[in-house]
Amino acid sequence: MLKNKKASKNAWVKRLTTIIFIMLIIMSSRFTELNNMIDNKKNIENGQATIHNQQLNIDEQLPNKTDDKVRDINNEEGQLEVRAKAGNPVYKVMTEKYESTIEINKNSFDASKIQDLLTKHIKIEDGKKIAFLTFDDGPSTTVTPEILKVLKDNNIKATFFVIGKQVEDTPEAKRILQDIYHQGHAIGNHTYSHNYSKLFPKGRADANAFMAEVEKTDQILKSVLGEDFTTDIVRFPGGHCSWKGTEDLDKQLADKNYKYIDWNALVGDAEGGPKTREQLIKRYHQTFVGQQQVVLLMHDTYGKKSTAEALQYIITDLKNKGYEFRTIR
Ligand SMILES: [Zn+2]
Repeated sequence: MLKNKKASKNAWVKRLTTIIFIMLIIMSSRFTELNNMIDNKKNIENGQATIHNQQLNIDEQLPNKTDDKVRDINNEEGQLEVRAKAGNPVYKVMTEKYESTIEINKNSFDASKIQDLLTKHIKIEDGKKIAFLTFDDGPSTTVTPEILKVLKDNNIKATFFVIGKQVEDTPEAKRILQDIYHQGHAIGNHTYSHNYSKLFPKGRADANAFMAEVEKTDQILKSVLGEDFTTDIVRFPGGHCSWKGTEDLDKQLADKNYKYIDWNALVGDAEGGPKTREQLIKRYHQTFVGQQQVVLLMHDTYGKKSTAEALQYIITDLKNKGYEFRTIR
């Protein structure tokens, strides 16, 4: 009896040792993965990332590196994420289940600097020629895919300020929003309804109504793009500069780390009735008069086909004038 007890005890010790051994192996491989990712941080700072033997060039135009460091390492279930901050842009390299790279936000530019540039005319230090292409009021199932195609052909990333209601509209619109995201463009919040009389009754901002719509849209974006999705940029329907009494709203937005982004050039695709490609190009030349950093307002909603048609011309013009293209984040 005593012998049996001892034997069973020995068996248990053996089992326990095996379990601990297996756990150690699992943990050490996990640790190696993590370490590999941390090694990648150096590569990120050098403008490259290697993940699962996939060599990825992040950016040849790395900005002046002022506070290079890995900001955040999350090791959540099935996901490993490294965020490295080098100068202004935040580079985000994410692997899902350690298999593939989803996205590298390689071309992003600090939204707060753009807000300061547009609202307080605080110049951006390095004075580079930078173009921020922005598209409002989408996604649409007709125009957005056309715009995405032109951007892809030119290997350029842009910023899309989407309307929550538009995203909810159809499953196809949701899929297009995912395309925008997975193709590496930035996504901003353009409220849920875009309804002026609700958001700005009598021309004055209703902070509570506005914040509720920003929040609602944020939830919709998360439901389509995943809980990890965040954006801290907002574009006011009609532009921040169009409305009175925004002080309370501005404060509430700032408290939640939102930056509002207006524009300093446009193509006129939301001015009056439908416009031809040529009319948009003309308006572009009227409003883009060599701004060192140009935030160009365009629309990718229904009926704006000529915006997609004018886009190649605009990109070529900006390229010829020495502009590089960045997203706002
Ligand atoms: Zn709009």
